[in-house]
Amino acid sequence: MTDSPAAETRDYRGTVFLPQTSFPMRGDLPKREPQWLERWRRLALWRRLREQSREREKFVLHDGPPYANGPLHIGHALNKILKDVINRAAQMAGRDADYIPGWDCHGLPIEWKVEEEYRAKGRDKDAVPVLDFRAECRAYAAHWLDVQREEFQRLGVFGDWQHPYATMDFTAEAAIAAEIGKFLMNGSLYRGLRPVMWSPVEKTALAEAEIEYHDHVSHTLWARFPVLRAGAEDLVGASVVIWTTTPWTIPGNRAVAYGEEIDYALVHVEGVAEGSHLRAGERLLVALPLLPQFEKDARLAAHTVKRVLKGAELAGAVAAHPLRGRGEQGGYDFDVPLLPGDFVTTEAGTGFVHIAPGHGEDDFNLGRQFGLPVPETVNDDGTFTVQAPGFTGLHVFKAHDAVYAACEAAGTLVAKGKLTHSYPHSWRSKKPVIFRATPQWFIAMDDANAIRAKALAAIDATRFVPDQGRNRIGSMVAARPDWCISRQRAWGVPIAVFVDRRTGEPLRDPAVMERITAAFAAEGADAWYKPGAAARFLGEGRDPADYEQVMDIVDVWFESGSTHAFVLWPRGLPFPADLYLEGSDQHRGWFHSSLLESVGTRGVAPFRAVLTHGFVLDEQGRKMSKSLGNVTAPQDVMKQYGADILRLWVMNSDTAEDLRIGPEILKQQAELYRRIRNTLRWLLGNLAGFTDAETVPYAELPELERWVLHRLTELDARIRSAVETHDWTGVYPEIHNFCATDLSAFYFDIRKDSLYCDPADSPRRRAARTVLDVLHRCLAAWLAPVLVFTAEEAWLARFPSEEGSVHLTDFPFLPAGWRDEALAEKWTRIREIRRAVTGALERARAAGEIGASLQAAPVLHLPAGDAGLLPPETWAEICITSGLTLSTAPAPEGAFTVEDMPGVACAFAPAPGRKCERCWRVLPEVGASPRHPSLCLRCEAAVEALPRAAA
Ligand SMILES: [Zn+2]
Repeated sequence: MTDSPAAETRDYRGTVFLPQTSFPMRGDLPKREPQWLERWRRLALWRRLREQSREREKFVLHDGPPYANGPLHIGHALNKILKDVINRAAQMAGRDADYIPGWDCHGLPIEWKVEEEYRAKGRDKDAVPVLDFRAECRAYAAHWLDVQREEFQRLGVFGDWQHPYATMDFTAEAAIAAEIGKFLMNGSLYRGLRPVMWSPVEKTALAEAEIEYHDHVSHTLWARFPVLRAGAEDLVGASVVIWTTTPWTIPGNRAVAYGEEIDYALVHVEGVAEGSHLRAGERLLVALPLLPQFEKDARLAAHTVKRVLKGAELAGAVAAHPLRGRGEQGGYDFDVPLLPGDFVTTEAGTGFVHIAPGHGEDDFNLGRQFGLPVPETVNDDGTFTVQAPGFTGLHVFKAHDAVYAACEAAGTLVAKGKLTHSYPHSWRSKKPVIFRATPQWFIAMDDANAIRAKALAAIDATRFVPDQGRNRIGSMVAARPDWCISRQRAWGVPIAVFVDRRTGEPLRDPAVMERITAAFAAEGADAWYKPGAAARFLGEGRDPADYEQVMDIVDVWFESGSTHAFVLWPRGLPFPADLYLEGSDQHRGWFHSSLLESVGTRGVAPFRAVLTHGFVLDEQGRKMSKSLGNVTAPQDVMKQYGADILRLWVMNSDTAEDLRIGPEILKQQAELYRRIRNTLRWLLGNLAGFTDAETVPYAELPELERWVLHRLTELDARIRSAVETHDWTGVYPEIHNFCATDLSAFYFDIRKDSLYCDPADSPRRRAARTVLDVLHRCLAAWLAPVLVFTAEEAWLARFPSEEGSVHLTDFPFLPAGWRDEALAEKWTRIREIRRAVTGALERARAAGEIGASLQAAPVLHLPAGDAGLLPPETWAEICITSGLTLSTAPAPEGAFTVEDMPGVACAFAPAPGRKCERCWRVLPEVGASPRHPSLCLRCEAAVEALPRAAA
C-alpha cells in the first residue's frame, strides 16, 4: 500500500469540497445571547409575530404568577423555560401563542419584608398610616417585578414583557374586588366563626398552601373526665381518659368523642407505680387495644378489666370537665357530652378524643353536628381570652404547666409527657401555628352554588399531564372545608363588603359594588382606605354609622385564582385557557384556587389542561440550601454557560419528576450542546453554495436519503403529538439521539465521501445536499423552541437577513409520502448487518492490518434472504470501504460474526490497488490516468469539472 513518488507531485487538497461556514464551532453563549436579545428587541419580534399570526387560532398558556419578592431561582427558570418551549412549539405548529407573563404582588411575605425594614430602623409599623405602608409594599413589589422581568427575558423566554399583568395593577385590584362581589351576590360568601390555621406571630389566618410541616416538641396530657351519667350503672363514677398533644385546648373543651365500633375496657385500678397520678380503687375507660401502652404511660401497676364494651354503649353519657370547680364563677361546670366521632382511631392515645370546637376541624364539625358552643378562648396574639377562666393573658404555647397544675389541683391529671412530631408551621415566620376559631369570611363549598360538586365535575373534564394530578387535586377538593378567604393584613385587595350592624348581614347592592370597582380601577384598592370611603361607596340614603366596613384583605390565593378574570377576557384571549402549567405543589395552590374561583363564578374550570413539573434538587437529590452550599443560581449559569444550556437541561429532563442540577450535570449538558452545535455546523458547512436548483426530486433519491427523510417524518410526528398532549418528556433526547446516532455516526459518516469528493453536479452529491437542506430546516425549526439563540444563529447563517428570524417561521411541512415503513424496516436490517462489517474492520485495525476503513474490501456473507438487500457497491458506500464482495456461501473460519445474526459474517480483505490521493479510496484504477496518475476516475472527473483556477 505504498504510493509511487510520481503520485505525490500534485496537491489536490484544494479541490476537495470541505465544509465551509461562518457558523463558529464555539457557542460563546454568554457573550452572543445578549446580542440576539438586542436584535429581537430592535426588530420588535414579539409584535411582528402577533401581527403575522392574527388570523390563527389562539393558544393560551395562562401564566401562573411568580411572587415578586426576590431574584429568580432555578425553580423559576425551570417553570418559565418549560412554558416558553410549549408556547413556541404551539406557535410554530400553527397557533397564535399569545403569552402574557404575570406577577403575584400582594401578601404577607412582602408585608413581612417591609416590616422587617421598619424594625431594623426602629420604626413602629402601627404608627405608619396604612396608605403609606401600602405604598411601600407596592414599591417593593414593583422593584422585584422589574428585576425578574429582566431575568426571565435573559433566559430567552418570549412573551408580552411590555404589557405583563400584576395582581397590584389597578385594573386587577378592581377585577378581584368584583370577583369577590360575585360571591357576595350569589350568596356563597358568608362570615362565620370557624377554626382556621392561625399564626399568632403574624396575627393572621393562613391558607393550607402557606403551611409547612416541621418537627415540633409538644407537651402531652392524659386527663380524667369523670362520668356523671350513663346508661350502665357501672360506668357512672368511672373516668374517661383522654390524651392530647395540645393541653392548652383543655379550657376550650366542650365534649369527648369515642368510636362506636371501638372496644373499650372498664379498668379497675389495683396498684400504681411510683410517681403515678392514678389512684388504687378507681375505674377508668380506655380503648382495649391501647391499654398495654396506657399501662406504661400512666404507670398502672396492677389492674383488672371489669368488662369490655363497644363505644356505641356510651351514647348519651355525660362527663364533667376536668377543670370542673376551677376557674371563676364556675367557669367549667358545664356538662361535657360523650359523642360518636368517625375520626376516632386506636392508633395512639386512649381511644377518646377531647373536643374543643374552636381548635380543630373535626372538633368544629362534630360541634356543629351536635350544637356545641364554639368559645373564643384565644386572642389573635395567641394569649387566652376571658373565655378561658384561670388562664386569661397566658400564651397558649406556655400554658402546659398551668394546665397540668390546674388538672392536678382538680384531681384529673393522669399523666404528662412530651412528643416530637410533625406539626404545622407558618412558611414565612417558621413558627408553629394553632387552630383558632375566629370570625372569618368564607366561600361555601356545598351551598346552592355547589362549588365542590361542580369543581369535581370540572376536574373530570380536564386533561392532566401527568394524569396522577387528577386524583391529587380531586381528593383535595373532595375533602376540603369551606374556603376561608379573609386575612387580617394590610397589603392586598380588601374584601370590599359592608355589614349591616343591625342584622349582621352583608350588604348586597350591585350599585355599591359598581362604585367600589370603578374607584379601584381608577385609584387602586387604596380607595377603600381613604377617609370617607364608607360614605362614598354606600351612597346617598345610607348612614355609614349603620354599617361595618370590612377591613380584612382577601387571601392572595383568591387573587391569583382570579387572574383569568382580568387577563384572559379583557385582552380578547379565549376562556378557558388551553393550559395551566406549574409545579406539582400547585394542586393545593394556584390550580386549586383558580378552579374554585372560576367554578364559583362561571361554572367551569379556567383551564382545559393542567401540566405539572417537579422540583429542582442538587446532583445528590438533596434540596438546595445556602447552608449546604449546593445552590445552582440561574444567574450564574447564564454567566458560565448561557441560557441555551439551561434550556437544554430542562428539555433533556423528565420534568414530571424532580430534576437534578449541579456542576457535573451542567458540564454534561454543555457537552450535549456541543454535539448538537457540531451537527448544525456540519450541515451548514456542507450546504455552502446550495440553491434550490440543485434539489433532486424525492423519487430520484437513493434509498439512504429516503430513509433519512422517513426518520424525519417520525420525529415530526413525535413533536406534533407533544404539541397536542403537552407531554414533551423524551422528545429532545430523541432529537439529540437522532443527531448523534443516525446522522453523525451513520449518515454523515457515509456521505462525507460523496459530499467532499464527488463532482459538484453528481446526482449522488446533489441528493445528499437535498437532504441536508431538509435536515437543516427541520433541525433549526425543531430546536428553535429550546435552543432559541443557537437555532436563530444556525438559521441566519444560512438565510442571512436584516429582518429575518427562525422564530417567525413554522415547523416545516413534511410530505406524507416521505413516510415509508417498509424502507425503514429494510434499513434497520441493513444497519444490523453493517455491524458485522464494522466489527471485522475494527478487528483488522486493532491487529494493525489497516488504518482506515477505506483500505479494506471485505467479503460480506449473507443468508440468501438478505442477498438482494443492496448491491455490493452500495454496501461498500454504507460500510465506508473501497470495495465489498457479497457471498451467500458459508463464511470461512475466523470471519467476524454478530450475535443473534445467523448466516451473517464478514471476512476481512485488504482493498487491491493504490490509494487515491484526493479521496483516499484504494482502487486498482488509480494510476491509470495520464493527467492525474494519483487519482481515481471519479476524482479525475471531479477535478476536471472544476473551473480552471480551482483545478
Ligand atoms: Zn478518488
